[in-house]
Amino acid sequence: MKNENRLIEEAPPSVLEKFVSQLNNPFTFVLFAAAAISLLLSEYSDVIVILAVVIFNGVFGVIQEGKAEHALAALKKMTSPTALIRKGGTVRRVPAVSLEPGDVVLLEAGDQVPADIQLTEASHLAVEESALTGESLPVHKSAGQSVFMSTLITDGRGEGVVTKIGMDTEIGKIAALIHKSESSQTPLQKRLGKLGKSLSILALVLCALLFALALAMGRDVPEMLVTAISLAVAAVPEGLPAIVTIVLAIGVSRLASAGTIVRKMPSVETLGSVSVVCSDKTGTLTQNRMTVTAYYENGKITSASERKPSRLLDGFVLCNNAILAGRQRIGDPTELALLDWAASHKVYKEALEIRYPRVDEQPFSSEARRMATRHKKNGRLISYIKGASDVVLAKCTELASYGSVKPLTASARRTIEQAVETMSGEGLRVLALAEDNVFLGLVGMKDPVRPESLPAIRRFREAGIQTVMITGDHKNTAFSIAKELELADQPSQCLTGEELDRLSDEELEQKITNCRVFARVSPGHKVRIVKAFQKSGHLAAMTGDGVNDAPSLKTADIGIAMGKCGTDVAKGAADMILTDDNFATIEKAIAGGRGIYENIRKSVLFLLSSNFGEIMTMFTAVAAGLAVPLQAIHILWVNLITDSLPALALGMDKNEDALLMHDPPRDPEESLMAHGGWFCTCFYGFLIAGISLFAFLMLPVLMLRQMDMELTLGNLRVALETPAVLARAQTYAFTTLGVSQLFHAIGMRNQRKSIFEMNHLQNPMMFLALFLGLGLQAAVTEIPVLIRIFGTAPLALHEWGFLLALSAVPLFAHQLLLLRKSGKKKG
Ligand code: ATP
Repeated sequence: MKNENRLIEEAPPSVLEKFVSQLNNPFTFVLFAAAAISLLLSEYSDVIVILAVVIFNGVFGVIQEGKAEHALAALKKMTSPTALIRKGGTVRRVPAVSLEPGDVVLLEAGDQVPADIQLTEASHLAVEESALTGESLPVHKSAGQSVFMSTLITDGRGEGVVTKIGMDTEIGKIAALIHKSESSQTPLQKRLGKLGKSLSILALVLCALLFALALAMGRDVPEMLVTAISLAVAAVPEGLPAIVTIVLAIGVSRLASAGTIVRKMPSVETLGSVSVVCSDKTGTLTQNRMTVTAYYENGKITSASERKPSRLLDGFVLCNNAILAGRQRIGDPTELALLDWAASHKVYKEALEIRYPRVDEQPFSSEARRMATRHKKNGRLISYIKGASDVVLAKCTELASYGSVKPLTASARRTIEQAVETMSGEGLRVLALAEDNVFLGLVGMKDPVRPESLPAIRRFREAGIQTVMITGDHKNTAFSIAKELELADQPSQCLTGEELDRLSDEELEQKITNCRVFARVSPGHKVRIVKAFQKSGHLAAMTGDGVNDAPSLKTADIGIAMGKCGTDVAKGAADMILTDDNFATIEKAIAGGRGIYENIRKSVLFLLSSNFGEIMTMFTAVAAGLAVPLQAIHILWVNLITDSLPALALGMDKNEDALLMHDPPRDPEESLMAHGGWFCTCFYGFLIAGISLFAFLMLPVLMLRQMDMELTLGNLRVALETPAVLARAQTYAFTTLGVSQLFHAIGMRNQRKSIFEMNHLQNPMMFLALFLGLGLQAAVTEIPVLIRIFGTAPLALHEWGFLLALSAVPLFAHQLLLLRKSGKKKG
């Protein structure tokens, strides 16, 4: 195998190990106990069916787990690191795994070092080496020193040659340090795991109770053992853990195809509870396609396309780290815009750099809001500073005006500030330029908003989610764009970083609910903003892309990193990554998160109500001293075959977005049973038990009628003692139970809509589940081998007709409940 630049991970468990781990749950133990007792009682067909079910469940689990892993591996690939290399005179981005010793790699703040690299160049380079040394304070590195794989560049820029790759690197040598993956169970999964355990215990208690009851009533011990087992099987929702895992996996891969990569599973649930989204402006709400539209020089604002400025171009081009060569565009869009503008006036960076070689630089940072370079010019050194106007102006003492240099008086300063106000008031990003301490001029660039942003913001508003803009830009620029996006309509809704610094935490907390725009803030402010929102009762999502955004991404309930222009550091700290950096994708993610939760809720309620129906059917009959309406294998069949399919279909339901985004965010503490969950479980449980018992007793009652015998429990008991009658009565109950749950699932898709209003084409899986379920249910009553195994009786057409009609009762109930609800609303 070719030596690739990657760290070898732990070998994944074998298929057999996976299978065994699938079986390792309380549900399976109950089933094994049932099989063992059936074996003792020589009920061989029961033993076979129970074991078959266990194996089926295990295999199904392994396959689904495999699929989920596959989906996650694909996601991992999408987020795998890349490296910028210089080869044959060009710079390009390649996957980090393809690096080889000798490659020349460019490094900048925010990168994760892709291999062990010896630096040939370094400018203010700082590296955080905690992955290797445990020390989290960054260390400065200069040319000649090495940087190591998996460490993080926190500041500056550098270039170097790859010396070691993959397992030969320093980090590769200490493989033991490589983090194991964190537990990826969501809080909901954990809560459901607990629920499963309690249900298993409940099952055992029920069995013991029933067994004791039967003994006290003097009934046949082996028969009651079998019954107790059946009841235990009925009480345990065997399919539940598998269904939840699958729904999550499907949901997560759906989110990925919509542009959101989930890094931390639990955040999928948190998504549905987000009540405020703090979004970066540049590139997320706007397109990050900057174009210079105006400049200010010699006291005048001029349109950029009109005339060539006299002194601005050289400085903006030299104090610039972007690369523009033919179709190659690498670097910050702000800087690329400056190069485009210069190129339109035939000023090119390569040529200028040969004439005025760069000797030093201070790279741009969001905190400093400026960048500076030093160049050799005609035998002397000059420096350029470009950056936010206030920062640059603060460094200037003089002013260039029509070829001469004048002192920068207070009134000249005001004139410049006036120009900044005018340009930023039009939504332009304003950058100033100075040579040494001489102010040269301003440039204004337009960054159009993304067309998808406004509709997404409106939908958020409808869904009770507030959108807040965070930007390093000038207050005016930010407010003008916020107005366009309907985020703010009064300047009082904007807060600047400076104002923020003057507020105490308590004051900020009070003020924050009215704030929609945070301007001139640095990443350090973001943590305070998130915390203030959280304190005031919000669940906050926050976007980020830079090195210094990592703390706020971690503090936010959902940290969202940008996939395209985000740094490795931000991605590493985030809960999810937007592949297209687009604000509208956050909206899709939140709708998706709400949908996943809703789907889990629907399948869980469906399974619980079905199980409750089974328990009630069994318990009522046995407590009345009647024969069991369902054998253990009938219940297993329903739980694992006819129940699983519709539960899965419910879990994959494409909820109509409009419906999901109408409700306010969900309280994160809310139980799955909230909003009528218990009612749904009990109501449909009783209903299903009622019709199943009705089906079970139909035949003996008719017989008693025909024989003119009195309708007493004792007589019913006797009538059910005839094996042929019992088999047919059980088949009725079994069929009704199985089919009614299939129908029940259709209604469960949407408890607020009539089945005639639902768009059934949106869930083709449900059709499949319905027809497959009906087919399988028919198979056990019509195919001779299965009849023998299940102890059923073949049914005539009219019997099928009647049982189907009876099974549709849950759907009638669904319609009736809706009528009552709408009646209440009107009343
Ligand atoms: P966000 O992405 O959070 O919306 P932003 O991109 O608007 O933030 P920054 O990139 O931190 O904010 O820029 C803040 C300010 O720094 C800008 O308003 C501009 O004046 C200045 N600035 C931006 N890019 C550069 C650069 N490459 N060189 C010099 N100054 C810059």
